[in-house]
Amino acid sequence: MDRTEVVIVGSGFGALATAKKLAKAGTPFVLISETTEHLFQPLLYQVATGVLSAGEIAPSVRSILAKYPNADVRLGRVVDVRPDDQELDYLAGGVRHTIAYRSLVAATGARQSYFGRDEFAKVTYALKTVDDAERLRSQIVRCFEEAHTTADPERRKNLLSFIVIGAGATGVELAGQIKELAGRYFEQSIRGITAADVTVTLVEGAGVALPAYGGKLSEYTKVSLEKSGVEVVLNTLVTDIDEHGATFKAHGSEAGERRTAETIIWSAGVQANDFASVLAERTGCETDRAGRLLVNQDLTVGGRADIFAIGDMTSLNNLPGQSPVAMQGGRHVARTILGKTPRGTAFKFRDKGSMAIINRFRAVTKVKKIELTGALAWVLWLVVHMMYLVGFRNRYIAVMSWFGSFLGHRRPHFYYAQKAGATETALPESVETEPIKTELIKTEVQAEKRVPVSVS
Ligand SMILES: Cc1cc2nc3c(=O)[nH]c(=O)nc-3n(C[C@H](O)[C@H](O)[C@H](O)COP(=O)(O)OP(=O)(O)OC[C@H]3O[C@@H](n4cnc5c(N)ncnc54)[C@H](O)[C@@H]3O)c2cc1C
Repeated sequence: MDRTEVVIVGSGFGALATAKKLAKAGTPFVLISETTEHLFQPLLYQVATGVLSAGEIAPSVRSILAKYPNADVRLGRVVDVRPDDQELDYLAGGVRHTIAYRSLVAATGARQSYFGRDEFAKVTYALKTVDDAERLRSQIVRCFEEAHTTADPERRKNLLSFIVIGAGATGVELAGQIKELAGRYFEQSIRGITAADVTVTLVEGAGVALPAYGGKLSEYTKVSLEKSGVEVVLNTLVTDIDEHGATFKAHGSEAGERRTAETIIWSAGVQANDFASVLAERTGCETDRAGRLLVNQDLTVGGRADIFAIGDMTSLNNLPGQSPVAMQGGRHVARTILGKTPRGTAFKFRDKGSMAIINRFRAVTKVKKIELTGALAWVLWLVVHMMYLVGFRNRYIAVMSWFGSFLGHRRPHFYYAQKAGATETALPESVETEPIKTELIKTEVQAEKRVPVSVS
């Protein structure tokens, strides 16, 4: 039986914080994650909008932990756990493996929640993973490229319309960035498209933007977005979505309003990833409506003293789903496992403040009772996020890219990796083409004569 002292599941903020502490203490552990990169989610919107490349915000956990001989990183998806036997099952390379542990730390995060309307996932864009960000980036470029060449004014309007659902931090930064892209990048690089041609609508069920902040900061966010040209629609739910638009329904109104757009981005809610429900079932731990584990005060799960859960997959004392909560939780658990903190000690979160970016030169920051807005908050946001980015090289590249994008007009990672449709490249009539042969096409490939290459 494969066995280790500690198994950590995940490679996000919570898992990496736990791993680093255990690694430095020399405790043997195995970290199993279905992605072996450490994804810095707060900068995903910059990948989606061409400021940074995916590699710059998602370094490999394997290389971060490479210098510790007690760390073993495995690419796998954890599927089951048997708490009484202290065994965990994971799939790797299509094979089911079992590993025994003394302590288990689960940090499997959260994914988008569509509030029971899972069909929305097929017709909307999300921003949770590297794939999501790259898919959204391709879509944005495709829309601008096609709007540039289409002769149909209605289609052009739809291609240049974007709807963002949910005015939390992700929705606000995306709405702000797309409008900024229109004016500061596409207007400069595509003849005939101006920022005024591009419609960005941010729709939110609550009565304010950035509901987690409230008061002056929420009002500042709304006004800043509107000044930049984003339409902010509050107190409104989206009741239907298809490939070409969405239906908005304002609170208290009977009728829905149809809005058309080629790109609809969903950032309205989260729910715990699947492993949370497995843990809940196996340990008897309760969950909230979003499937998050209602962990004990010391971050243990159910009645188990040897199983911990941290970060976005948990719910404790109304702590926000933010990276500092996951990181501090990870360190608390590591200290408990190492015996530096007595077993049963309650996790105390130190709130160092929160911040959200709106667009260039505008952000909001709240540190205890101090509230900042504008350029100062924006610079603070960049500095804090740069500090938490893993790796000197990534930090250096991020700063260079920010200079290019925010002071200049560059978007170094905007590309549309797709050929124009083959049907559009018809040959001119004068070119004679060979008649289509009706006989069977030979399928055998003639063996190429290859000259062996020797490497000295
Ligand atoms: C677009 C966006 C912007 C954000 N901006 C901010 C911000 O500005 N400030 C802030 O504080 N927070 C921000 N957050 C929230 C922050 O990123 C999360 O709170 C944080 O990532 C939670 O860390 P975690 O370790 O719990 O989970 P994650 O970081 O989500 O990590 C989960 C890990 O578990 C792995 N995993 C999942 N299921 C399995 C399985 N069955 N088996 C193996 N591995 C599995 C995943 O591959 C992943 O590595 C943002 C989030 C998003 C999506």
